[in-house]
Amino acid sequence: MAIKRLLIANRGEIALRIHRAAREMGIETVAVHSTADADAMHVRLADHAVCIGPPAAKDSYLNVAAIIAAAEITHADAIHPGYGFLSENAQFAEIVEAHGLIWVGPKPEHIRTMGDKVEAKRTAGALGLPLVPGSDGAIEDFAVARDLAETIGYPVIIKAASGGGGRGMKVVNTAEELESQMGQARSEAKAAFGDATVYMEKYLGNPRHIEFQIFGDGKGEAVHLGERDCSLQRRHQKVLEEAPSPVITPEERDRMGGIVAKAMADMGYRGAGTIEFLWENGEFYFIEMNTRLQVEHPVTEAITGVDLVREQIRVAEGNPLSFKQDEIEFKGHAIECRINAEDPWNFTPSPGQVTAYHAAGGMNVRVDSGLYAGYRIPPYYDSMIGKLIVSGRTRKGAIMRLKRALDEMVIDGVKTSIPLHQALLDDPEFQSGDYTIKWLEEWLAKRAS
Ligand code: ADP
Repeated sequence: MAIKRLLIANRGEIALRIHRAAREMGIETVAVHSTADADAMHVRLADHAVCIGPPAAKDSYLNVAAIIAAAEITHADAIHPGYGFLSENAQFAEIVEAHGLIWVGPKPEHIRTMGDKVEAKRTAGALGLPLVPGSDGAIEDFAVARDLAETIGYPVIIKAASGGGGRGMKVVNTAEELESQMGQARSEAKAAFGDATVYMEKYLGNPRHIEFQIFGDGKGEAVHLGERDCSLQRRHQKVLEEAPSPVITPEERDRMGGIVAKAMADMGYRGAGTIEFLWENGEFYFIEMNTRLQVEHPVTEAITGVDLVREQIRVAEGNPLSFKQDEIEFKGHAIECRINAEDPWNFTPSPGQVTAYHAAGGMNVRVDSGLYAGYRIPPYYDSMIGKLIVSGRTRKGAIMRLKRALDEMVIDGVKTSIPLHQALLDDPEFQSGDYTIKWLEEWLAKRAS
């Protein structure tokens, strides 16, 4: 069924991203916003806008009743959840569908299964994906944990089954630390996610984070759109992403991509998804699946030419995938940097009024951001205020272009992470492509000392 009016249940750059794709498909948009976001760019550009509550996300962007009411009042026929907020909430997806609205996302049962990381690992294993060695399911008993840790060998990592956003993880280096760290992981998981369930994995020494973008039609067809390398992380949070990965050969991409696409086809997965792996010494280890669009999706768009949001909408309408695996070509190299309103060196958030703004431009430069001069960045939400994505024929060319584009960006009035990205791009080790998930934190520590 063709979507005529799409409600965007999100804010910031991703709300704008979705609005743009919808407009280009001739679909009207409905923005929902908190009182703090009344002046946001996507609210200004949308065909309709509804205020759904006060600044606190739990009263607005997570307020299911208010969002459904907004859809009814505006006669929207579909809801796109973006990323974060309600995007991986299976119950919300069910409520949307129960109201006769089209859910632009995966089937609720797949969101539920993959949202529980213990279930996700079990499912991935059954589908033939390689796993990080660890507990077969949740661990409750300390004695069991101790025996298992001995078997797989220290260091191990205790992870929250309901975790996300890099939170709810504890690395345990010795048997002596295990009991206290496991206790802490449980209480932190309970406090942050309302679920104390934890599981154990071998802590890989120095892996890269490599994830595959996949797309399914929900009827047994699925394709992959290659990998993204997201190894540049701080506190398990991505800072800069690139595609393709500097360490993956075309043969390896075809082989591993083929495995994940087959797994998704077998599952009957619908829409966009990301399968995340750690990669060490040439081996892939599944860690989790995200059943939504990712922040870093534009690097994949840049090297494949596929509009992933458009494809999400088309699949939600019940169309077959618009491409076959052999029609997806990978061209050149793309890099994205996340621009946050924060101190570039101590990472303290820096909300406030943007006094001057100029976005970079030129060939193969893309800025996804709702910023404008005079805009007031509210203090209530994530500090990411935009993304700068560039592509080039080679990785080196992309790095040169990104440096040039960062130099052109003007965001005055608040501190941003632009100086951090500029310093990173100048680093010979980054330039060599030889970095792992620990590299950025070590680099930051070296700089600070
Ligand atoms: P989240 O859902 O919170 O993002 P993930 O399971 O995706 O959690 O892990 C996030 C990051 O944590 C990974 O990219 C990696 O840097 C680190 N990590 C997770 N599991 C392991 C592991 N077994 N060994 C080493 N690092 C890990």
